[in-house]
This record gives sequence, C-alpha cells and structure tokens, in this order.
Amino acid sequence: MAGVHLCRVASCTVAAAKSSVVPIDVQKKLQRLGLVEPDDFILHLPIRYEDETRIVSIAQAQPGRTVQVEGEIVQAEVNYRPRRHLVAKMSDGTGELQLRWLNFYPSQHKQLIAGKPLRARGEVRDGLFGREIIHPHISAAARALPKALTPVYPTTDGLAQPILRRTIAQALDQADLRDTLPAKVREQYGLMAFESAIRMLHGPTPDIAPTALTERTHPAWTRIKFDELLAQQLSLAAARAARHEKCATPLPPTVNPGARAGLTARLIASLPFALTDAQNRVVAEIAADLGRAHPMHRLLQGDVGSGKTVVAALAAAQAVEAGAQVALMAPTEILAEQHYAKLSGWLTPLGIQVAWLSSSLPAKQRRAAIQAARTGGAQVLVGTQAVIQDHVEFANLGLAIVDEQHRFGVAQRLALSRKGELNTNPHVPHQLGMSATPIPRTLAMTVFADLDVSVIDALPPGRTPVRTKLLVDSRRGELLHRIGAAVRAGRQVYWVCPLVEESEALELQNAVDTYGRIVGELPDLSVGLIHGRLTPTEKANVMQAFRGGKLQLLVATTVIEVGVDVPSASLMVIEHAERFGLAQLHQLRGRVGRGAAESVCVLLYQAPLSKVARERLRAMFETNDGFEIARRDLEQRGPGEFLGKRQSGLALLRFADVDVDACLVESVRTLAAQLRVERPDVVAAHLARWMRGREDFLST
Ligand code: ADP
Ligand code: MG
Repeated sequence: MAGVHLCRVASCTVAAAKSSVVPIDVQKKLQRLGLVEPDDFILHLPIRYEDETRIVSIAQAQPGRTVQVEGEIVQAEVNYRPRRHLVAKMSDGTGELQLRWLNFYPSQHKQLIAGKPLRARGEVRDGLFGREIIHPHISAAARALPKALTPVYPTTDGLAQPILRRTIAQALDQADLRDTLPAKVREQYGLMAFESAIRMLHGPTPDIAPTALTERTHPAWTRIKFDELLAQQLSLAAARAARHEKCATPLPPTVNPGARAGLTARLIASLPFALTDAQNRVVAEIAADLGRAHPMHRLLQGDVGSGKTVVAALAAAQAVEAGAQVALMAPTEILAEQHYAKLSGWLTPLGIQVAWLSSSLPAKQRRAAIQAARTGGAQVLVGTQAVIQDHVEFANLGLAIVDEQHRFGVAQRLALSRKGELNTNPHVPHQLGMSATPIPRTLAMTVFADLDVSVIDALPPGRTPVRTKLLVDSRRGELLHRIGAAVRAGRQVYWVCPLVEESEALELQNAVDTYGRIVGELPDLSVGLIHGRLTPTEKANVMQAFRGGKLQLLVATTVIEVGVDVPSASLMVIEHAERFGLAQLHQLRGRVGRGAAESVCVLLYQAPLSKVARERLRAMFETNDGFEIARRDLEQRGPGEFLGKRQSGLALLRFADVDVDACLVESVRTLAAQLRVERPDVVAAHLARWMRGREDFLST
C-alpha cells in the first residue's frame, strides 16, 4: 500500500516538473508542511482567499477595501523624502490612485512605464496625497480574470503561494476524491459530498459569502470538520477496542475474607473519617475494573480537595491483596513525597511494604528501592518520574497510578503502562489516572474518549468554601498587619510568590526577597521558605515543619501548586495574582479550605490590570467551582492551550474546534459507533484518508 502511495507522489512531482522544475528544497518545504502524498495536498485547506475575479474602477476603490484595479501608469519616480521610496500614479479615466513601495527592486521600478496598462491589487488606504495602495501586487493587464477566488494556504518560510497552488491543483486532479461516507449517511446528516466540498474550498466561486468561508460555517467546511471529527472518534474507538483485547491480571476485591477482614476493609476502618458517597461510588467503579482480565484505563476526576488520594490508596490495597505490585507516580517531588508519607501512614500498619523512589535519592537507597521493586519486596512503589525509568523493573506490576495525570506527557504514561511487559507473566497493568483539572464535556468526548471517567462530584463534609479577596498591591502593608494578627490567633499561612516565567533564577530571587521582607516585618513569627532549588530532603523538612505547626507562615513558589495537603493552613496570599493562569490560581487556592476553619485566599494584584487578567481574577472571586473555572479558562484560552501541548489528541484536529463544533461531536459519536458495527469497510476507508499512521498518538 505504501508503495502505491509513493508512486503517486512520484508522479505528482513529475507532473509538476513538466510546467516547471520542482527543486528538492521545495519538496522538502512541502514535506515540512506534511505534504507528501496527494491525499495530504487535498486536505491542505486555505486559510483565506483573495478576490481576483473582478476589476473595480478606481473611483469605486474606497479606503479599507482590498481591490483589483486596472489602469495606465501616469508617472513613476523614486522619492527620497522622508526616506527612499518608489511611488507611481495610476489612472483609469474614473480617477487616480497612488501606488507606493517602501522597499523595492530596480526591476519593479522598470516595470512601471508611463502609458503602460497594468493591474494592481491591494488594500486601499487614505494617504497623505489621496488614496493609495502600499506594496500593491502588480500584474499584466491583459491576463484573463480567474473564475474562482484565489486560495491563500498556510505555508512555511520560503514556500511561495503560487507553488503551493500549483501542486495542490495537480493533486486535486490525481487524488482519489471518492466519498468515504455512503449516500444514506450523507443524507441523514445533511452533508455535502466530499469531492464538491474539497473542490469548493480550494477554489470557491466569488458569489459565496466571504464570512462563511473565513468563519468556516459554509456547508463545505461542515463536511470537512464532520469527517475530521469522525476520523478522530473512529480511531479512539479502535484504540479502546485494542486495549480491551489486551490481557491484564484480574485483581478482584476479596469477597468473604473469612475471619480476618480484607485489606481494603481494614484501611477504611482505620481512617479518621467516613468516605463520602461520591468516594464510595468511585471506589466501587475502580474495584470492579480491577477485577477484570482487561486493563483498566480510568481517569479519576475530582476538584482539588475532593479526596482522591484515599481512593488511590484503596485501589492499591485491593491490588496488593490480590498479589500484585502497585506503582504511584506524581509530577513533583513534593507531591510524591507527600503521597509516600500518606500511603505509608495508611498502608504500613496493614503490613504492606511501601517504598520511595526519586532520582535525587542517594545512590545506595535508590538501588535498594529498585531492587525491592524487582524482587517484589516493595508492594507499593511511590515516586516521581524515576519510577518509569528504564532500569526500574517490577516483579509483578498490576496497577499503575498516575496523579495529576494531565501533567504527564503521553510518552511517559505509555512507558509506565509498558512496565508490565517485564512482569514474569507479561500482562498490561491496570491504569488509574487522577486529575483535578475538570475536563469540559466536549473535550472529554473527544480527546479523552478513550478513557473511562469516574468523578468525585462532592467535597468531604464540613468544608467551608474558601473566601476570595482581591486586594491591590498598594495595600500590602495593611494586609501584612492583619496576617500577623491572624497568625498570632493560631492561623497558618501560605504566601505564594509570583511566577517568573522567563527566569527560574529570578523567581527564586523573588521568593528569597519576599521571605527576607516578611521576616523583617513580622519578626515574632516563625517563617519558612520553600522553592524548587531546595534539595528534596530540605523540601521535605520544611513541609514537615509546616504540617507539624512549627512554621506559621510559609513563603513558597509554585512548587506548592499541586496536591500539597496541610489541612491546618487556612490563609493564603498570592502575590501578583495577575500573572497566574486561571487553572493555576484554582490549584493554588485549593491548598487552603481543607480543614473545618473558614479559609481566606487573598489575591494581591498590581494595578492596572489587563482585560484578560481582570476576567481571571473576577472568575476567581465569583466561584469556587472547579468546573465553572475550567469552563471560563477554556473560553479564555482555547482547548489547545487549556490542555497543554502534550495532549496530542488535540493536535490531530486541524479544522474542527471541539468547542465551536460541539454539536457536530454529538452526531459524530453516534455515527462512529454505528459504522464500527455495520460498516467496517467505511471505517477503514475513512481512517485511511484522514489518519494514515497517526493513530499511534491515540493509543496510549
Ligand atoms: P485531592 O483530591 O485534591 O487530591 P486529597 O486526597 O489531598 O484531595 O484530600 C484532601 C483532604 O481531605 C485530605 O486531608 C484528606 O485526608 C481529606 N479527606 C479525604 N476524604 C475525606 C472524607 N471523606 N472526609 C473528610 N476528609 C477527607
Ligand atoms: Mg491530590
């Protein structure tokens, strides 16, 4: 099959070579745009169009319009004031227009012979000496006018539009434009035929409303987006099916454990709190998944502070009880360390061996931890990314838990799931991801359609919502005074220092300065400092002192952003809150409001605020609800940035926008399910056109 395609590429190149030679470097540039096979070219769609189909009279060429006029050059000269430029005057009998070049070649000057008829195209503006076009596009007047709008394609450095246009036009003659969808389906969903849609988008007639094209609302665009979303749904479904075919060791919950209660029951009994209904529900969902002979692929979602860790601990206990090892991976050292403390606190009393692995451990301890994983001596291994490094092998890994899963790249998650291949019997481990980033519904249906999702939709009882206050930075002194009083009354405070994206060193300096100032201003308090440059042991010691109440105020960088859990801390100040993103502010604020005391989060900002920053702070002030915050965040940033570049599933969508095209997603999902059952031939043809080997992205 690949061979056939290659031949077509070759013929395409040869055909292009007939009119003009397509040099190797042009082919390389085309390749950079992903344009190799005819099918690639036909799906390389214009970003906008230029209208060269008509000529307007100079009298009608109003400022602000992009027009094409035809007339004689009246005069052309190079002026030197205010600096060197070329200016020409054109007349068509209805009026005069200036053409102006601020940079030009001598050849351009030579072309402007007085009395010579020419065609000029560009945007008309009101210049100092009347209407003018700056850097007009000039061509011969006699040329026949095209019948269709001229497409402008996304391109790359040094690849000119005419070359792209020519190659794409040739591909349109060669590629197979047959519809992948049966007529019945097209009728049912009111879809335009694929070939008409593609031909129309590459060369629309001038009567089509320009906004329908640029805003992608035209039925031709709808067809393309529909197809693209369908391909995405089909490949996600295929990935899911493939996963269901893989084998995993079933790790069923112990039923009827006899006289001695099972590990999970004992863990629940030992907790100082009762699980919420929401927690019980997700625990049951996970327990059932673990009992199956196919790998679980579940995402546990719950707002910050909803109590995901204990759910993970229960899953771990069930897996250990069934005889398997468990790996838990967290994105930061602090968080991993905290999980280790929590899990060993809960699991060690039950006789479970919990080990800790991080790349910063001294070599000897690290070797011991790795050895314990290999021999099975460690039943639960908690750590940072070190857990998935090549030399870590497990005797019998049955469950991999990834906290704050959206922070890990696809490759890392894949590596973790592959760890099971080293098991004595090579089964894929069950996977549990955890995330506090709520995923809006349409995104969940597209990017994460391959995951089963469990949601903890209620916070543990007795929490009072965090009150958020906005305070302009000039009132910092007043704030410090009140913080001092609150601390003396027994409160614990996080003081979060601004994010300095460009420079970690600067960020560190900021934190150290802030620490110095606060110590100076509130000398009677015990103040701590934590930042990314401390060694893991130093970090752990600081967190321990804060947790134990020895520190009253903790100055921190965003290292505390994720997962840190000190329930007694009830006050948070975020400096330069305007520099943080919405999701980040919500995560940070989630560090307080974990105990019974009413918590306050003060967002200190520097005036004046930009419009976006104002919206963000307003959102923080107005709501504590993670889903609402995620919705607004998505609105402000768009899905790509919202999820981070690492979520490669999104990268596969070039034309559809999961937010704008939410209504399409619904129909496409239904159709995908139906086609998979009824028309595998259609599925294959459709994926061949749209995916061609890119499914790999989705199969993790
Ligand atoms: P997150 O979902 O953000 O990871 P954690 O697992 O850190 O939240 O839990 C937040 C806090 O709530 C922890 O101190 C945890 O022990 C506590 N917690 C968890 N479940 C309950 C519950 N059912 N009742 C009371 N407190 C709970
Ligand atoms: Mg957590």
